[in-house]
Order: sequence, then C-alpha cells, then structure tokens
Amino acid sequence: MTGLYAIFLFMIGASLTSFFGVVGSRVPRGESINGRSHCDACQREIPAYALIPILGYIMARGRCGHCKQRVSIQYPLFETLGGSLFALSYLIAPTFDVSLFSMLVFISVMLIGLFSTLGSESLPQSVWYGGLVLLGLMQLIEPVFMQWDSIVALGLVIVLVVIWQKHQVKQAIVSHPLKPFVQSSALCLLFLGGLYGLIAVMMSAFLIVILNRIFPHVNIRLTSLISLGIISYAIRMVIVLAL
Ligand SMILES: [Zn+2]
Repeated sequence: MTGLYAIFLFMIGASLTSFFGVVGSRVPRGESINGRSHCDACQREIPAYALIPILGYIMARGRCGHCKQRVSIQYPLFETLGGSLFALSYLIAPTFDVSLFSMLVFISVMLIGLFSTLGSESLPQSVWYGGLVLLGLMQLIEPVFMQWDSIVALGLVIVLVVIWQKHQVKQAIVSHPLKPFVQSSALCLLFLGGLYGLIAVMMSAFLIVILNRIFPHVNIRLTSLISLGIISYAIRMVIVLAL
C-alpha cells in the first residue's frame, strides 16, 4: 500500500509542479493564472495531451505540435523533481499528517520560487505570505518544533526584512539579492523550528557563497532558493528519520 500511495503522491507532485510553473512565471508579472498555456514560439494553445506531466513531453517528442519548435527540457525535469520530492516526503513520513503536509507546503513554495527566479523575478509575495500562514498554522496544530527559539529566530528574520526594506528605499538598490533569501529563511524557520532552521540558514548561506564562486553567472536568487531548499529538506529528513 505504501508503494501505491508513493506513486499517487508522485503524480500529484508532478501535476502540481506544472501548475507551479504557471504560478511562478505569471504571478510576478501580474498575469492571470487562468487560461491555457501557449507555445512560446508560435503562441498557439498547447493541446491537452501535451499538458500531462512528463508523459506529455515524451508523447509530443519534446516539440510543439504546430511549429515543431523544441520545448524546454526543464519542464519534464522539474515535474520529475516535484513528483520525486512529494513521493520521498511520504516515504520518510508515511502517514497523512501535519508533518507530511508541512513538508509538501514547504516544497511547493520553494518550487514556485524556483520558477519565478528562473524568470529573474523574486518569490511572489502572495505565495510567500500564504506559505508563512500555512506553515505557522501547522506549527500551532502540531507544535513539534514550535518553541521559544523558533519565535526568536523568526523575529530576527522579520527585523532583517524591515532593515532591508528601509535600506532599499534609501539606497534605491534595484535588485538586491538579500530579500528573497531572508524571506525563504523565514519559511525555513517555520518548517524546521528555530534551532534547526538557523543551522539550515547558515549552512545555505555558506553554500550560496561556494556556488556563486563556482558558477559566477548563475543568478544569486536561484542559488539561494536551491541551497535553502536542499539543506532544509535534508535536515527535515534527518529529523523525521531520527524521531
Ligand atoms: Zn509552437
């Protein structure tokens, strides 16, 4: 039965990831998330079968049905990633409870953030606030990590956001990369609790420096989301497996 549920979660994760792609690319530009997807090259509607996660890409042989323009391989890759993360979450915490749900919420926000930063936008504000409220509520329902350190750590992050915003208004810095990092750190603290959250934030700050040294042309927002997502998820996995 566990295997069946894992497959089911993989399919949910892959389908949601293709929806997250739409949210992550349209919301920061103020576009509606309704309406069918179009081919980037010929602007014609993508047929329903080609919208099936992963399989659609294989059936269409990675090309638009009308103009034969290649479709980016990033779509099936991200769908596989999202599906795998959903299935993996269930496999490490195989009960449908608050803990699993908070992992799925965290992964979802990080994936939307990834799609937005790929299009060089920050984490959409509505998605960020939604994630904060949902993860905060889940910590209240099942306070596994919710201790005083969590609140102190979250307070620190809020202070950082306020300082950053004031600083930005004064200095008119157009695209300072600190804000998305601070915002994702707040999610990370609610996802992991204060102590583990701070460890994850510090480790990913370190990883961002290394990643940006190795790949100087990769967008800093992208590396900050990737490193925070990977490290938080790994820490959460260790905690869940150890408990
Ligand atoms: Zn086309």
